[in-house]
Order: sequence, then structure tokens, then C-alpha cells
Amino acid sequence: MNKSHSNKPVIGITTNFLDITDAPFSGHQRIYVNKGYIDAITIAGGIPLLLPVSDNTETTNHLLSLVDGVLLSGGQDVHPSLYNEECHPLLGTTSKERDAFEVHVIDHIRKNNKPLLGICRGQQIINVAFGGTLYQDLSLYSPSLAIKHSQEEPWDQATHRIRLVPKSMLHQIFNHSEVLTNSYHHQAVKDVAPGFSVAASSEDGIIEALEKNDPSSWIVSVQWHPELMIYNSSQMLPLFRALISEARSHRSQK
Ligand code: MN
Repeated sequence: MNKSHSNKPVIGITTNFLDITDAPFSGHQRIYVNKGYIDAITIAGGIPLLLPVSDNTETTNHLLSLVDGVLLSGGQDVHPSLYNEECHPLLGTTSKERDAFEVHVIDHIRKNNKPLLGICRGQQIINVAFGGTLYQDLSLYSPSLAIKHSQEEPWDQATHRIRLVPKSMLHQIFNHSEVLTNSYHHQAVKDVAPGFSVAASSEDGIIEALEKNDPSSWIVSVQWHPELMIYNSSQMLPLFRALISEARSHRSQK
């Protein structure tokens, strides 16, 4: 191996786009991802590789052939047509372009048995891609939720507790039955996709994490933003380390 190259696993991170509205590039688009995802993968021992949102499957497939695992980042609401619902008035911004891109990424990853971690929207698109459904707004789950899931506290601060399901992979990863998380979502998983189990929920019953039952393909997702909690605590690091470790063992099997 070329000594100038690292042997660390490469983790693809899905990106988002922004319509630029101010000069000098008004009308153009920007592809980006929040830095926390990049920092979390780097700190946990991986090499982050950004995957631009694209309908060019040749480009996407080429990039995916370079990665040992994928992290699906947060963002827009998943379009409800993907789970056969009309748009509810409380539905937020959607992007059919990003939906199609990420469904393609998920398909590729599942065919190649690479590990996949979904964060926030990432959890929602995984659940939908595998046949599950979502609450388009948390008020449709309950009009009087006991817990605030759109926090106003700083993003690195935990605001609600989640309970990890005993014997779940996530429970083993965190080695705790309860964890404190931040919370930035107005949607949540409704019907869990076939082949998946709830790995954590908040005390009001909202599904906060999922995992695929089949141990031959490591797919884990969380509803909160662990990548924003890495700066002043190591509590979320085991989740990213688990992804990196799965990616490393996938790489060694090739
Ligand atoms: Mn929450």
C-alpha cells in the first residue's frame, strides 16, 4: 500500500442543496453538508467522502464503489407520495430530487451489504425506502405531546431522554439503558418498515431509533443529531465508532 494513503474506512455522507438567493450567484445551487457529520466521522476514525445530490447514477455508483459505508444526513421532509399519502398541511419542505438520490444510495448499499447509519431525515428515508411510513407532523401522533422535540436550546445540548431497547444493537453500542439526546424533528416513524425493530423511543412513545434485524447487514438509524453532540462530550462517539468498525470489517471481507 502507498504509505501516503490511510487505511481508514471511507464513509460516504449524503449532502443537501440550497437554492442561492443572494448576489453574486443568485439562481445557482449550492451542495453542502453541515460540518458536524464530517467531524464525527473523522473523530471516530473514518475518512469522510461527500456524495453530491445527483440524478447521474453513473457518478453516484462510482462514488459508492469507493465507500465502505454510508451516513445519510438530515434535511427536508421525505415526500409522502413515497409512502402513498397526500401532503398534509403541516408537511415541511420536501425535495423529490434528494429523495430519489437517497433511495438509490440505500438500494446500492443494501445490495452490497455495506453498513448504513441514518440521522434524522436519514432515519425517515431508510424507514420509507424499506416500506415503512411516517407521521407527517408530530401533532398527528398526538395533539398534546408531553415532550418538546424541536428544541430551542443550543444544538450541542441534550434536551430529552430516550430509552434503549434491551438487547438491541444500539443498547450494546451505548452500553446504557437510557441516553440524553438533542431533538430537532417535527416528523417521526409511524409504521416501522418490515425487517426493522425499534431500538429506542422517548418517554412519550416517539420512535427515536431503528435497526435492521438481519445481522448480516448493519443498518442503524437515529432521530436525533448525535453529530452535533461530539464537541463537548464523548457520549455519542460509540455510535460513529460502531459504523466505522462495521465499515472496516466490510472492507476486509472484500
Ligand atoms: Mn426527539
